[in-house]
Formats: sequence, C-alpha cells, structure tokens
Amino acid sequence: MHIETLAVHAGHEVDPTTGAVTPPIHLSSTFARESDGSYRAGLVYSRYANPNRLALEGCLSQLEGGAAAAVFASGSSATMTLIQALGPRAHVVAPHDAYFGTTKLLREVFGPWGVDTTVVDMTDLGAVKTALRGDTKLVWIETPSNPLLRVADIRCLAELAHSVGAICAVDNTWATPVLQRPFDLGADIVMHSSTKYLGGHSDVLGGALIARSDGELFSAIRAIQMNGGAVPSPFECWLTLRGIRTLPWRVRAQTANALALAQHLSRDARVEAVHYPGLDSHPQHDVARRQMSAFGGMLAVQVGASRAESVAIASRMRVFTQATSLGGTESLIEHRASVEGPATHAPENLLRISVGLEHIDDLIEDFESALT
Ligand SMILES: *Cc1c(COP(=O)(O)O)cnc(C)c1O
Repeated sequence: MHIETLAVHAGHEVDPTTGAVTPPIHLSSTFARESDGSYRAGLVYSRYANPNRLALEGCLSQLEGGAAAAVFASGSSATMTLIQALGPRAHVVAPHDAYFGTTKLLREVFGPWGVDTTVVDMTDLGAVKTALRGDTKLVWIETPSNPLLRVADIRCLAELAHSVGAICAVDNTWATPVLQRPFDLGADIVMHSSTKYLGGHSDVLGGALIARSDGELFSAIRAIQMNGGAVPSPFECWLTLRGIRTLPWRVRAQTANALALAQHLSRDARVEAVHYPGLDSHPQHDVARRQMSAFGGMLAVQVGASRAESVAIASRMRVFTQATSLGGTESLIEHRASVEGPATHAPENLLRISVGLEHIDDLIEDFESALT
C-alpha cells in the first residue's frame, strides 16, 4: 500500500463497540480481568500498553516498513531508550552535528555511565571507518543534519556499522518516512521525534523507535519502555495519530515551499549562504538525490554581517514566527547559535527555517521586507 493510504488507515479501525469512525481515547489506566483471570484484549495496565498507544505504534511500524515500534514521551526519551538498550559501557559513533540534545544525552547523561562516544563528520566515510572499533555497538546517523543540513550516506554507513557488528540507527525526524526509507538502505533502527512532522501541528511531544526486526534489541527497547514508563499519554498518542493522517500531503507541500524559498534566497546577493540539499550547489546533493525522494521542509541561511544583524533580520519577520522546533503547519525561524549556547557548531549568522504551509509568495515577501 502507498504511504498516503497507510497514513489515513493504519491504526484507524472503526470502533467495534460504537461504530465510531474516529478512534475513541482510552483514558483508563487499568483493565478488568475476566472470571477466568484472562484480559479481554490482553491489556492490563496503561504503562505496559494502551489501545491508543498500540494504534500509534502499529501505524508507525507500517509507515516505516518495520517489524515493530515503541513510542515514548519525547524524541529524546526514545533516543535515551536506544542507548540504554545497548547495555553498559557501549562505544557509540555519532555525528558532530547531531541534534544538540542527542549529543548532550550521549556526553552528559551517558558518559558518566561508561558510554564512550566518538564524534565524527558522517559525510567523511574514511573518518567513520577510523572511528569504528571492535566494541562499537551503534552508529547513529542523522540526515539531513541539524542545523547545516549535511547529508550522510545511509547505505554506506550501515554497511560500515555492520562490518564491525554494530547496529545502525537513523534519526529520520527531518526527512520523515515520506521522503527517506532508512530500512531499505540497510538501517536497523529508525528514530523519530514525533513532536515535529509526524504530529505536525506543534501541539504534542513524542518520540518513537521502529525496528527492522523484532529481535533481541527490540525486546530490550520494549522492556525499558514498559518498566521505565517514559510513555506518551493516550491523548498524545491520539493527537499524533491524527496528525499522521495528513503527513504525506503536508510534507510534500512544505518541501515544495522550501525548495522555492531556497532557490529564491540563493539568488539574493544579501544572503551569504543557503543550506538546502535540493540545491545543485549543496555539497552532498548527489547523495540526497539517491536516498531521498525529495529534499524536505528544512533549510538554513546565513544572513547579516554579525550575530546581532542576523537576529535583527529574524526579529523583523511577520509571517515567520521566531521560535525553536519544526515540522508544524506554521513557518518558524530561529537563530540557532543563541539557542545552543557556547558549545554550538552553528555559524553566528545562521538562521534555521522550518517552512510551513503558508503561500510561498507570502513567505518570500516576508523575507524581502526583513532583509531590507
Ligand atoms: C526535536 C528533535 C529531537 C528531539 O526530540 P524531542 O521530541 O524534542 O525530545 C531529536 N532529533 C531531531 C532531529 C529533532 O529535530
């Protein structure tokens, strides 16, 4: 089935007791036992499983083409669960430009627990090869990356990971299953912050781990989810599933807007640089063409001679809202260096843009008036 059909139907069965077309929200934290001691639908207690969570997990597993999925209270708790599932003192290879929170988790939270992280430029396969060790358990990929939209070659990196017996996990938050299919390229785990495109309306936090096969690693992930309980509420699962219904169409429209905006800004002499994988000038444009069906709704621009000037340009925007996060219906713009603090890799005049569903002419006009 095509992803448009899956997005509408996966996890959306007509309610057998009422005929409700839209699924009900099951708030009950506990489920009654039958007289023989069994449970009617196999449900016991909501930390273990809940109908809304099961529906979302089933849907995500189908969207990515995986065998099993576990959802979490945030993207970061999904990442945390995968690292915990590796076991103590694992060696991890991660990109130098991973999502800032991921880098922080690896270094500040898991470092003291003996997790050893080697940070590399994932666009440099030689550097990745050098970083791999006999005890490497995980190669973490985020592509396109944050905030410079570098593109890492999933197929080559998965092969490298497997050559030392490590797993390869892809943070597919920015590309979404609509544009990028990590399992087809050899990845073992796909991670999402469903806070972004999957939810799609900037109104719910969530995360997910989807596994290519339902084996030992996924069992460890499931055990941490059920016993640790960093799970989303039934309403959050319901909201995320509601957002997913329109995912393919939103992503496609946002991608068209982003490409048009990137092309427009790349012709403007006042703009120092435009970082977008869909531009011919992008250093990994060929890799992006090979592994993505289109280039996504995120871009970054370098504008203004200084940090202050760059912030001032963002402040003059009227259609774009100055805020962090991404993937919602509204366009957002953010001065990344000031959000990330002193340890940032973001250039001082870099503005990260999440392109929304507004009319492209209004977005371009907003930029035009902010730049003058
Ligand atoms: C937002 C984000 C995360 C973290 O997700 P939360 O839901 O905020 O915890 C991880 N990776 C990427 C690429 C993100 O954009």
